[in-house]
Amino acid sequence: MDVQQLLRRYNLRPRHKLGQNFLVSTPALQAVLDAAELRPTDTILEIGPGLGVLTRELTRRAQCVTAVELDSALASVVRNELSDTQNLHLHEGDILKLDHASLIERHCASARPYKVVANLPYYITSFVLRRLLETEPRPDLIVVMVQKEVAERAVATPPNMNLLSVAVQLYGCPEMTAAVPAAAFIPRPEVDSAVLRIRLRPSPLFTDIGSDRFFEVASAGFGQKRKGLINALSSNLGLQKEDVRVALEGAQIEPLARAQELKLEDWARLCQNLPHS
Ligand code: SAM
Repeated sequence: MDVQQLLRRYNLRPRHKLGQNFLVSTPALQAVLDAAELRPTDTILEIGPGLGVLTRELTRRAQCVTAVELDSALASVVRNELSDTQNLHLHEGDILKLDHASLIERHCASARPYKVVANLPYYITSFVLRRLLETEPRPDLIVVMVQKEVAERAVATPPNMNLLSVAVQLYGCPEMTAAVPAAAFIPRPEVDSAVLRIRLRPSPLFTDIGSDRFFEVASAGFGQKRKGLINALSSNLGLQKEDVRVALEGAQIEPLARAQELKLEDWARLCQNLPHS
């Protein structure tokens, strides 16, 4: 049954507030499935199954699917429409508030390894990505439909880095596998989308530094876009400019460099050279 029919049948209206843009394009759906490289042994976490269009395809191709939906009306639709499906475990709740790894473990044989496949609600994309990247056990693959601009930011390289590309690339290797036009959704969003795939590393880079320290320094560096690194780091970390200048020199970074020009290795060397405030 198609999305329009389901909405009519259950007397539902898409809720903009919950980022409800339903996939109606077969090529776009296929692009998500292809990027996920699904195998019959896979354990999947889907965020926001909506009316269950992607969910059904996931249950056909993987061993076990845990889906988390915030909207109870949509959860009822999925329960009803996919009642014949044995390997789907639907949970009603907020993905940002629950312990998704325990949930997967409860329903599927194991949460290690697992993949995340989702058409993400746009209003929480960055929070969800952060949570998936930072919470152990991490998935080994994330395939998400996101705003095209978010995918472009995630795959950015120097001199166009940003805090999202630093975070994503610390944990994994991102690629934009498909561009998806706004017309692929109902209702049609204002911007185009893209399929973002992140292959996670077995462990994040620079474990000796620690991700808290790494992000403390990187966030400080990106904190004031117009300022050079010396000014941004000194004011955001509460350090003397001279100490920052010496640390940049020790890390072999140009004193006039800006945050977006730095590679991940540069941030790591900088963390090692900067004094703690
Ligand atoms: N998967 C469906 C599809 O592709 O057509 C729907 C995708 S729609 C972009 C996003 C879905 O996420 C909606 O079903 C929405 O209700 C759900 N959602 C929004 N916020 C959520 C949250 N915090 N936790 C879980 N699901 C959420």
